[in-house]
Amino acid sequence: MSFADLGLSDELLKTVTDAGYTEPTPIQASAIPSVLMMRDIIGIAQTGTGKTAAFVLPMIDILAHGRSRARMPRSLILEPTRELAAQVAENFEKYGAGQKLSMALLIGGVSMGDQIKALEKGVDVLIATPGRLMDLFQRGNILLTGCSMLVIDEADRMLDMGFIPDIEEICTKLPKQRQTLLFSATMPPPIKKLADKFLENPKTIEVARPASTNINITQFVVPVAPQSFEKRKRLRQLLGQEEVRTAIIFCNRKTTVRELNKSLKQHGFRSGEIHGDMEQPQRLAELELFKRGDINILVASDVAARGLDIKGVSHVFNFDAPWHPDDYVHRIGRTGRGGATGTAYTFVAPDDAENLENIEKLTGQKIDRLELPAPAEEERPARRTRRDRAPRPVEVDVEATPAAEAVEDAPRARPARSRREEPRREQVQREQPRREDPREARNDDRRRDRRRPHQDETPDDGSWNGPIPDFLKVSFGI
Ligand code: ADP
Ligand code: MG
Repeated sequence: MSFADLGLSDELLKTVTDAGYTEPTPIQASAIPSVLMMRDIIGIAQTGTGKTAAFVLPMIDILAHGRSRARMPRSLILEPTRELAAQVAENFEKYGAGQKLSMALLIGGVSMGDQIKALEKGVDVLIATPGRLMDLFQRGNILLTGCSMLVIDEADRMLDMGFIPDIEEICTKLPKQRQTLLFSATMPPPIKKLADKFLENPKTIEVARPASTNINITQFVVPVAPQSFEKRKRLRQLLGQEEVRTAIIFCNRKTTVRELNKSLKQHGFRSGEIHGDMEQPQRLAELELFKRGDINILVASDVAARGLDIKGVSHVFNFDAPWHPDDYVHRIGRTGRGGATGTAYTFVAPDDAENLENIEKLTGQKIDRLELPAPAEEERPARRTRRDRAPRPVEVDVEATPAAEAVEDAPRARPARSRREEPRREQVQREQPRREDPREARNDDRRRDRRRPHQDETPDDGSWNGPIPDFLKVSFGI
């Protein structure tokens, strides 16, 4: 199957060839002709399978006809995060280069005034995060009645972030006569319900088993001691012996992201960080450094990195085993993209046994254990006493106090622990998940404040069936 068989315009075919794509990915091959025939689509495919071009390409051809009207976008693409929205916009710029399509990006962290100005003129494509869109809608700055095409991208991620009620509301503001495309890596029941309600006679395209991992990714579990400094030592050992061209290192907490990045830099690695506490321009700047190769290691939290399209990542490290098995699939999906091969290492401390079990249950495969020799003694900063250490941020050989670490993006379910581990759970309960950055909460999550986290509404998301721990039932008032 070649791109030329899909019914795209010659102009677009040329752009695609220029982009270096030789053949469509399976989801593109199945989706593009149907989108061009104006069918509603449910596209289920794991991350890295090329879902973006599966809707961007046919949309460009469809939107080439017709003109935009003031304040009335002709099409709307919903993305769960600012970074993903920005990425889709980049794709439109890349593929739509030869066409006169106008586009607006509606995301938190960017001046509202500029966005409103862009909308005033009228746009062909509006790319938005649900929170910001609802804001503008309520201010009367936007009309969705001229929007005949809707894309709900990364629907499972939207669910995780509690955006489903917003999306439902947005759907009702669009004309009934429209084309709707929904893309997701997995199809948990609430997403199925959403699709049943808002899509008409959709064609379902599924190119991989939900939650399956990519065969191009070699995966290892690395047993580690629980202490951070031991884990960091192991990490440096692996970074030293592997041919790591580019790596993303995932941590469960923002504090760990910051600490680890600092430590890596002190050890001479070219690393950067990306997490939810950073302002949007800062995040994009860091991402740009990584994309340009100025840094080759990016330490990241799940929320900040999920779904990011960063090409050619050779390695993914899970510095912390993810609490939620779905995150494992998403994290390691950063490598092995577009047919390339990649390697994923997951650090597993004794306490993570249950998390690992859940990952293996979800992916349906046992991950090979990598037994490493004890790391060689490295030259490292001399150990200091607590007092010496205070003013200078050097490598700290003690665990960061859990109380100081907030769980990022609180509504995400941290699997409950079994009864016999009750004391630990008590301890976890004291780590009050809180919004660390009120500005971040204000933007995309405003609407969520007034709603219950999705876990309350959807006890079974198909991946974790345990009870919801009390500490997750928080409100997001700011
Ligand atoms: P998804 O949304 O499914 O996670 P993306 O749309 O972000 O995946 O695409 C993943 C990567 O694959 C991107 O780097 C993209 O440029 C690349 N890609 C997409 N389609 C093709 C193709 N037909 N051939 C080669 N690479 C592709
Ligand atoms: Mg995507």
